[in-house]
Amino acid sequence: LADSAGQVAKGDKSHGGDFSYVGIDAILEQMRRKAMKQGFELNIMVVGQSGLGKSTLMNTLFKSKVSRNKSVQTDPEERIPKTVEIKSISHDIEEKGVRMKLTVVDTPGFGDQINNENCWQPIMKFINDQYEAYLQEEINIERKKRIPDSRVHCCIYFIPPTGHCLRPLDVEFMSRLSKVVNIVPVIAKADTLTLEERDSFKQTIREELRANGIDVYPQKEFDEDAEDRMINDKIREMIPFAVVGSDQEYQVNGKRILGRKTKWGTIEDITGSIHYETYRVRRLNESNPHLISQPPNHLDANGVAPQHAALSREM
Ligand code: GDP
Ligand code: MG
Repeated sequence: LADSAGQVAKGDKSHGGDFSYVGIDAILEQMRRKAMKQGFELNIMVVGQSGLGKSTLMNTLFKSKVSRNKSVQTDPEERIPKTVEIKSISHDIEEKGVRMKLTVVDTPGFGDQINNENCWQPIMKFINDQYEAYLQEEINIERKKRIPDSRVHCCIYFIPPTGHCLRPLDVEFMSRLSKVVNIVPVIAKADTLTLEERDSFKQTIREELRANGIDVYPQKEFDEDAEDRMINDKIREMIPFAVVGSDQEYQVNGKRILGRKTKWGTIEDITGSIHYETYRVRRLNESNPHLISQPPNHLDANGVAPQHAALSREM
């Protein structure tokens, strides 16, 4: 403690460069400055059928073209995606001096087939692959100072605004994936529902999530104390979030704003503490002598076939 406080005092402007200052608050300041300098990594995955507004919402949230639609046309046969693709696009964004490396992982093709039975598989595989990559870095003897983090911190699942109920595909995807990643279910294009329809749809979905044992973000494990619990309960009441995205800018009271208003909740990171830990414990407990060299295929109880995922990375 004395050591880190001492380090802070050296460059700490808030105490007028007074090197003799030692206080616990100095640690907070040091952490803040370190975090600001390093920046944050946020990896968001969007899942849902084509046309539900995934790309638009990402652009709305981050006020720039963070998500692009591939407009490359290939031969007619390839125009219909045979399986789910996984595409990552990374951006360095900065807001009020805080740097963030944002990666949006898009999953075009999900739910677009006539038979969508296994389209959760490549997504599950991708998420587990990122945990595995992180684990391999972590158990390396020559550990990197900062492990590149490609783990999916949050998976936004787009529910079509039907106003009826969840489809079997929605239930299957969220049941399976909520065990490995933070799922944030959203009602896509919520502006197409009336307020009454929206509220009753939300309620139906909440009941269905409960009935199917689907544990979405924020999970119970996140309620560390009464205060957390209160905040999380407020978020839980709003689930699924009704979202509206827009690429259009409008002038309102002399301010430029993006068209449709977005209702949005806070997303905090428990990927590292819960989902990754679960993965890590399970992997390390296997005490598999081939741990270092072997791909994780054998651990996947869900029978994920690796060839399903086509990963392309654009930096
Ligand atoms: P994606 O295939 O899920 O990425 O969907 P896009 O973001 O490409 O959006 C598909 C179409 O829906 C576009 O014409 C958008 O302008 C429109 N759209 C996107 N978000 C919304 C929304 O919140 N409400 C309405 N009404 N239309 C939207
Ligand atoms: Mg898109």
